[in-house]
Amino acid sequence: MSKQKSASAQTSVTAILVINCGSSSVKFSLIQPRSGTTLLSGLAECLTTPQASIKVRYNVDIDNQEQVETSTLVAPFDHQVALNTLVNKLVQLNLVDSIVAIGHRVVHGGEHYAQPTLINTTVKKTIEKLAKLAPLHNPANIIGINACQQAFATLPQVAIFDTAFHQSMPEKAYLYGLPIKLYQEHSIRRYGFHGTSHYFVANQAAKLMSKPLEQCNLISAHLGNGCSVTVIKNGQSVDTSMGMTPLEGIMMGTRSGDIDAGIIFHLVEQLGFSIEQVDTLLNKKSGLFGLSELSNDCRTLETVMLDKSHPQSAQATLALTVFCYRIAKSIASFSASLSELDGLIFTGGIGENSSWVRQEVVNQLGLLNFHLCEEKNQATRFGSSGDIAINTSRPCWVIGTNEEWVIAEQSAQLLTSNSAGKL
Ligand code: AMP
Repeated sequence: MSKQKSASAQTSVTAILVINCGSSSVKFSLIQPRSGTTLLSGLAECLTTPQASIKVRYNVDIDNQEQVETSTLVAPFDHQVALNTLVNKLVQLNLVDSIVAIGHRVVHGGEHYAQPTLINTTVKKTIEKLAKLAPLHNPANIIGINACQQAFATLPQVAIFDTAFHQSMPEKAYLYGLPIKLYQEHSIRRYGFHGTSHYFVANQAAKLMSKPLEQCNLISAHLGNGCSVTVIKNGQSVDTSMGMTPLEGIMMGTRSGDIDAGIIFHLVEQLGFSIEQVDTLLNKKSGLFGLSELSNDCRTLETVMLDKSHPQSAQATLALTVFCYRIAKSIASFSASLSELDGLIFTGGIGENSSWVRQEVVNQLGLLNFHLCEEKNQATRFGSSGDIAINTSRPCWVIGTNEEWVIAEQSAQLLTSNSAGKL
């Protein structure tokens, strides 16, 4: 892990505990907001199943070697148990006193939250109500908030919403072509996600150009298991590919992305699918996984694609080809939102590491004057970053995302401006 510093040597230094509670996982990091140093991090996954596990990484100052511990808890265990394990570890490492606040990633803030927000009873109730828009994510976020309030009763808790960065989208971008009452009475509109990641990489690109973010016009492609493209005008999100839920937009690991909504009627009326089966099909069995019938994992598919003797090589190639075409189409469509474009950003596990996907995408963007340098593209992987385009092209940057650091930094800024905490 980069920038992970000796934990027990840092106890007097203020830090933010960042919590990202998913439906079956908890990701956590203890970060010093000023330096971006991670003192401790970890992941609890497969929660409430027999495979539940928790892993914690930290340094001890004796030999400055990173320690990786896998908990010996007996599975299954839940979010609360995972967070209690984290708290015990923080106590054992003498790190609790360094924590000045908890920053929570919250997936859906609806139209209520465009900024980092100090969590109180009203905010919690609103996050709970917004669960109707994010039934898998917001309830898990509330579990994390409750568990942390119990464990750290005196510390401020801050919510950083995945949707917040996209609240600057204009009506023409966020409205669906549906009866307006569905928006007015039921909040059915496009919200967008991955906001923290798009915000972070846009900021980094602004730094690379030595320009204030407010003067930057960018398109960023966050390509991981979930994928989204965002167009940033004068530093603000003006459109993004995900919609009311993360299912809209480009094809992803297991999500279909955009389809003709008529397919849903066909599946139900002609093929006898239940609504639950349609949900599972579109969210968990489609995308790279559905087309390849092999894997949702880009790395696996690339390996199989290149191994021409593999029986599913052609199908892996097909899945990756459709994936890249859909990404390129989405990027090109966002030229409608801009009159100037400084460059394109790739981020997320695939965007940061797959030179094949980047090349295949950019090969289809010649009309926007994007052309990759093969050597730079090949060399920029596994943590390296920079511009991978040829000199005459618009810049194409690979930038590693760091949502945890944004959450820590924004939590710290909120506390400083509210004087709610001393940093
Ligand atoms: P994320 O959700 O951001 O962690 O990204 C996960 C995706 O990144 C998975 O599809 C991985 O296969 C993909 N990925 C990670 N490393 C590589 C790599 N070296 N080459 C291709 N894809 C990769």
